[in-house]
Amino acid sequence: MEKEFDLFVIGAGSGGVRAARFAASLGAKVAIAEDLFFGGTCVNVGCVPKKLYVYASEFAEEFEAAKGFGWQSERPQHSWAKLLQNKDEEIARLNGIYINLLKTAGVEIFQGHASLLGKGQVLVNGARSETVKAKNILLAVGGWPRKPTFPGAELTLDSNDLFRLRETPKKVLIQGGGYIAVEFAGIFQGLGSETELLYRGEKFLRGFDFQVRDFVEEEIQKKGVSLTFNDDIVEVRKHAEGQLEVQLTNNEVRKVDAVLSAIGREPKVQNLGLENTRVQLTGSGHIQVNTHFETDEPGVFALGDVVGRKELTPVALAEGMALAKYLFANEKIDLNYDLIPTAVFCQPNIATVGLGEDELRLRDIAYESYVSIFRPLKNTLSASPEKTMMKILVDKKSDKVLGCHMVGPHAGEIIQGVAIALVAGATKKDFDKTIGIHPTSAEEFVTMRTPVSH
Ligand SMILES: Cc1cc2nc3c(=O)[nH]c(=O)nc-3n(C[C@H](O)[C@H](O)[C@H](O)COP(=O)(O)OP(=O)(O)OC[C@H]3O[C@@H](n4cnc5c(N)ncnc54)[C@H](O)[C@@H]3O)c2cc1C
Repeated sequence: MEKEFDLFVIGAGSGGVRAARFAASLGAKVAIAEDLFFGGTCVNVGCVPKKLYVYASEFAEEFEAAKGFGWQSERPQHSWAKLLQNKDEEIARLNGIYINLLKTAGVEIFQGHASLLGKGQVLVNGARSETVKAKNILLAVGGWPRKPTFPGAELTLDSNDLFRLRETPKKVLIQGGGYIAVEFAGIFQGLGSETELLYRGEKFLRGFDFQVRDFVEEEIQKKGVSLTFNDDIVEVRKHAEGQLEVQLTNNEVRKVDAVLSAIGREPKVQNLGLENTRVQLTGSGHIQVNTHFETDEPGVFALGDVVGRKELTPVALAEGMALAKYLFANEKIDLNYDLIPTAVFCQPNIATVGLGEDELRLRDIAYESYVSIFRPLKNTLSASPEKTMMKILVDKKSDKVLGCHMVGPHAGEIIQGVAIALVAGATKKDFDKTIGIHPTSAEEFVTMRTPVSH
């Protein structure tokens, strides 16, 4: 006889695992299917390994900086193979933790590819093929790197491949202008590759405050990353000496050891059996859902990257928890997609919460801008030319702080706290009333007093 569940989750990534665990804790009979890696993108080929690689790459500067503080030693050599091995061990440990969390919560685990058969039925193709029934089905299948279409695209790497690289490419070309491309530029540069970032648009990091983008452009170049905008790849060819020859639209040719194509991600909706249901896709190919994450097929829900609202782990987690409470605790879904803080772990880091100046102008909001650009104390002895930028945008009418932006070390750690103030509706006066912690960079957020004219 077919097994029957209250909730069947397809995809054990950030959103799926959170929804499954919460639903089970609320007394629902829950199962989850995963066909690749427990913990999903974030744990296996996203946030976690990426941040470990960022840490690895930051040591290069730290070794240099240490000299200014009296440390005298030869610069140690880096082994990419050792980093890979240690990273793999840590990810395997996390995979185990995710499986245990699900088991402990009482969620039944199916290892295999799941697809919809329609009428509340799911087919799981694992060690054996099995059909199950579910009152509710959740599609939490995430996304996948978009492949370029130029000739020789198969010679390029995507972000998943990077986490399998065994050695440092001497020269690397990164195609893309999003946060993943910019983060990987910092990783490669820090780990010793000669790095170029190539973006077809005017400037990378679209969507961030213009001043943040300009500032990061300068700082990244100071570190040695070469930036090329308004240009793209036409073709990649294998050169006789093993290198790759990259033909650009401006007719220039680059010879490199690796090309990383980071041109965005696509929802992973292939072979999901959507044709057996009324589930509809949006113009961008994401699964269309209403305010409580239900698709056009009643009883079939979707959340996380596959619905493409804000493709971030904490958003998928919040959506998963909200859906579980909606289905099994009768709670309304009340998620606030404004004021989601976010960080880019490029070097220096960017972190931001709320609106940027471009957005304020678009919305025709009268604002005041407070900006501080300074050399952090550590760099007075480290001799690093890196500067930090902090920016506060304030509603002229209400005095409410509408956006806070930072480029500098630990920006993510700092902005997380600032985000609480913004969510609580803090005004500039509240910021001014707050005593700083000295000596820190973060204290700048409470000591800026003079708006810049614009
Ligand atoms: C390089 C990179 C860096 C990132 N860095 C950050 C960061 O610093 N901070 C941040 O917040 N976010 C970051 N993200 C984004 C973050 O990883 C995603 O937003 C998050 O993982 C989305 O969670 P999800 O549950 O929607 O999907 P996923 O985590 O992708 O999980 C989907 C799961 O479903 C499985 N699956 C798919 N189809 C099927 C099927 N038919 N049957 C069974 N299983 C299936 C997949 O194998 C996968 O495990 C990064 C992403 C990338 C690629």
